Amino acid sequence: MIKDGNFSQEILTALDSFFAEGRCPHAMLIDGGGEKQRTELARLAAKMIVCSNQDITPCGACENCRKADENIHPDIITVTKPDDRKFFVKNDVKKVVADAYLTPNDSLKKVYILSEVQQMNEECQNLLLKILEEPPHYTAFILTSQTANAVIGTVLSRVVRLRLGKAEDVQYSEKAVDVVTKLASAVSSPYEYDKIQATAPLDGNKKLTVEVLELFIAVLRDAVSLKSGGKILLDEFKNQSTELADKSSLKKLLDMYEAVCGLYRSLDNNPNYTLLSAVLCARL
Ligand SMILES: [Zn+2]
Repeated sequence: MIKDGNFSQEILTALDSFFAEGRCPHAMLIDGGGEKQRTELARLAAKMIVCSNQDITPCGACENCRKADENIHPDIITVTKPDDRKFFVKNDVKKVVADAYLTPNDSLKKVYILSEVQQMNEECQNLLLKILEEPPHYTAFILTSQTANAVIGTVLSRVVRLRLGKAEDVQYSEKAVDVVTKLASAVSSPYEYDKIQATAPLDGNKKLTVEVLELFIAVLRDAVSLKSGGKILLDEFKNQSTELADKSSLKKLLDMYEAVCGLYRSLDNNPNYTLLSAVLCARL
């Protein structure tokens, strides 16, 4: 049994089970918790994959473990979005897919850690589908994400999932919470003016727009879940998702969800943030 003071025995047992009887997961998702925890757990799992000891992994003693500990293992490749972008770049994801077919250097296996895939849009996630389904036997993928909600269903169905509990590092500003609360009421209002008023603070405010759209997507998702008899994930926005679920049909909720997700995905290609509130109003 692996030991690691940073994680609960429950998490470690779950991780260990993926490696039972010499197996090795080819695609894994670590979600929830905080970013630091996700990163550390991804590194631990990567070390288990590259470790040369077949019986106890990670042995902590082999050359592969040593390099993994020092963060210098050539077969553990971490990929993130560029610092100056909001999302992963398509070309980077394409490179990973092409690179995944090259054989490892030191270890029998190589691992790609795709870090914080809540920052990877649907188009890029789609590029990963084939490789996640049938990676070469020497390649494994570890995805981390704030929430599994940010991962498209077809990717989710191809990974084993390790959940660190409720996401801790999603924090929203008061202003964003205020806009989302007003929006949740405004969408069922007969007055167009209510929507215009609710979205007005977004004009020209890029940071707030991103925050509001991310939060509103999560609240809409919870509303869809409530409407379908499921559970909600964001307890702190229960009032907003309940109001949406009470006052809108399932079809309307799904249409809004699609529309807001589409708008969110278009942000990187849309430098004109001033028009976004109008577009958002029109789509709700
Ligand atoms: Zn080892």
